[in-house]
Amino acid sequence: MAGRLLSIGECMVELMQAEGDLLRKAYAGDTFNTAYYARLFLPSDWSVDYLTAVGTDVVSDEMLSFMTTTGVGTGRIRRVEGRSPGLYMIHLKDGERSFSYWRSASAAKTLADDAEHLRGSIEAVDVIIFSGITLAILAPAAVETLLSELRRARAAGKLVVFDPNIRPRLWNDKAHMLETISAGARAANLLMPSFDDEATHFGDSEVAATIARYRGLGVENIVVKDGANGVTLRFGDAETFVPALKVDKVVDTTSAGDSFNGAFLARYVTERDPAAAAAFAASIAAGVIGHHGALVAKDKLASTAWA
Ligand code: ADP
Repeated sequence: MAGRLLSIGECMVELMQAEGDLLRKAYAGDTFNTAYYARLFLPSDWSVDYLTAVGTDVVSDEMLSFMTTTGVGTGRIRRVEGRSPGLYMIHLKDGERSFSYWRSASAAKTLADDAEHLRGSIEAVDVIIFSGITLAILAPAAVETLLSELRRARAAGKLVVFDPNIRPRLWNDKAHMLETISAGARAANLLMPSFDDEATHFGDSEVAATIARYRGLGVENIVVKDGANGVTLRFGDAETFVPALKVDKVVDTTSAGDSFNGAFLARYVTERDPAAAAAFAASIAAGVIGHHGALVAKDKLASTAWA
């Protein structure tokens, strides 16, 4: 069955230390990473598009060219005069990574400013993905515009997928952060949180508490990711546990959750078997954390996983 998937959020320019003072440039962002992995594993009769806003400058052109090479569609990306993509730098010191960000005036902050464009883009697809980072970068009025379109999509029977991806440094105020994340969850019918984040910020003592809290907000289907401890799926009234794979050497955990989300959705939307989709996604995420970088090429991920 053919379908159309749209991921909404911010993709940034990534600068990573190469040799000495040299920097290597890449492009990444949670919702873009998820779109990348969904594209890798969805059949060709599915389209995968990214919705964001970029500038009209050279680096914006380069970002769109890069997206096109991955097979992710850029037709829904608005160009905004006078803005540029956000940027972050990864510092490596004694094997530890730390990050600096320049994103406070990024073009992506305007992604929901054209309500008609947003509505048309969401109406045109079957599956919509967004995250807590998508909400964190938007002004309150833009959050409301986006959430009201997503509630509309959910009411129309579309699959609306939310990963809370809670990043306190993007929010000014904790109460507002938790309230907005909860509003995001209420607009979704499939939630994909990381237990670590939920425990830290909502104070959940166990995975069951995360599930109970989001079920209380009316979310039907929940996939709680818990790193090496595996995932717990609650679909309707059925609960299943799917273990993680054993990874001997974790090289870089960047994008573990995003790759899990993308691979899970690729299988779930085509086969509607959540446990099988989670087992597949766990195998892909295990491969991703065995390599450097957010976007790992398909030929580097164990080919037996999708044979
Ligand atoms: P996030 O990156 O969003 O914090 P998690 O850390 O929960 O998400 O990881 C997402 C998925 O990646 C897990 O459900 C699991 O399948 C896989 N994963 C993450 N860390 C490990 C690990 N150390 N060993 C095996 N699998 C892992």
